[in-house]
Amino acid sequence: MENPSDRRTVGRSGSVLRLPSFRYLQPTTLRDALRMKAEAGPDGMYVAGGTDLYPNMKRRHQEPTTVISLMGVPELKRLEATVVGSCVTLTELSARSPVRPSAVAHAAALVSTPLLRNMGTLGGNLCLDTRCNYYNQSYEWRKAIDFCTKKDGVICWVAPSSPRCWAVSSSDVAPVMVAIGAEYRLVGPHGERVVPAGRFYQNDGINYLTKQPDEILVDVRLPAADGWDAVYHKLRRRGSFDFPVLGVAAWVRWDGKSVADARIVLGGVASWPQEVPEAAAALKDAALTDEVVRDAAEAAYRPSKPMDNTDFDLSWRKQMTRVYVTRALEELRRRRRT
Ligand SMILES: Cc1cc2nc3c(=O)[nH]c(=O)nc-3n(C[C@H](O)[C@H](O)[C@H](O)COP(=O)(O)OP(=O)(O)OC[C@H]3O[C@@H](n4cnc5c(N)ncnc54)[C@H](O)[C@@H]3O)c2cc1C
Ligand code: SF4
Repeated sequence: MENPSDRRTVGRSGSVLRLPSFRYLQPTTLRDALRMKAEAGPDGMYVAGGTDLYPNMKRRHQEPTTVISLMGVPELKRLEATVVGSCVTLTELSARSPVRPSAVAHAAALVSTPLLRNMGTLGGNLCLDTRCNYYNQSYEWRKAIDFCTKKDGVICWVAPSSPRCWAVSSSDVAPVMVAIGAEYRLVGPHGERVVPAGRFYQNDGINYLTKQPDEILVDVRLPAADGWDAVYHKLRRRGSFDFPVLGVAAWVRWDGKSVADARIVLGGVASWPQEVPEAAAALKDAALTDEVVRDAAEAAYRPSKPMDNTDFDLSWRKQMTRVYVTRALEELRRRRRT
């Protein structure tokens, strides 16, 4: 029988949320992890650092009865120039990283706080749950508004006539992986597959990953650094702590001083890292002059349509797309000159 205190905010301050009871398993091989998940069925979930899953379990967003830790599987801890295991922590990735481009390490360094980066992993960051002001609340808060479509309810409070959920992709590293064309290696009960980062995500706040629940993200394959560069810029309220309300990852392949190819990817404005091909087209076969940068920033601004479900005013966040894309491209230009 459920202990009523499991569903209650405890402490007079009303600020401490309790984890429910669950079974905790610690496999040391991928095969064992997959077997444990198969045995647990839909009530089992993988965990890495737990900095996303455990707060979510406290708020009853996810309610696994079996939690399978991946942190004891050595294969998931690889850290090489072009291969990063999913259980490498964000601190390892940002501080002692052999990884190029530096945009990956930089985005990892911008996640949250040092304590959370010590626990949080690359894999957890890339699989991070989508976020929304009406969802990232305690069970009681959500119950008071009769819940919402993403969990326990039937209406979206952000867009009540919409059949879909608009919760926001809030990972800092995912937009960079999409921009640089990284590939994710997954293993599941039926074997292994490699998917381009861009196809790992979909624009749906509930089903935001194409990964099956029983698949494990093993590692990320980064393209070799040859003739391209990438940067990441992040907008948030508190520079030392908060999730992005806008992230801009910009990637260019240089041909002399001209841009041979480019990708601009926005985080924090949709349920997936949103690639903006119109902005890339404005950059192709051109030198990064002020005019070209302005055109690309304008092209990124138009399809950037943040919803009113995270921090800051949404029209201001949309305006900031132009500013942050400009800053990202100016940084790439500076780096090319030096
Ligand atoms: C206060 C606070 C601030 C934060 N700020 C930021 C921020 O600024 N930017 C940001 O990007 N994130 C932020 N986060 C979220 C989080 O800390 C990081 O994204 C972190 O990298 C998550 O990694 P983790 O290992 O802790 O994930 P976990 O909580 O362990 O897992 C997250 C999800 O991924 C799944 N998962 C984990 N690893 C794998 C794998 N190898 N294969 C398959 N599934 C897997 C889990 O089942 C779970 O669904 C913040 C969190 C908090 C609490
Ligand atoms: S976007 Fe709508 S359905 Fe999705 S979490 Fe927010 S309120 Fe819920």
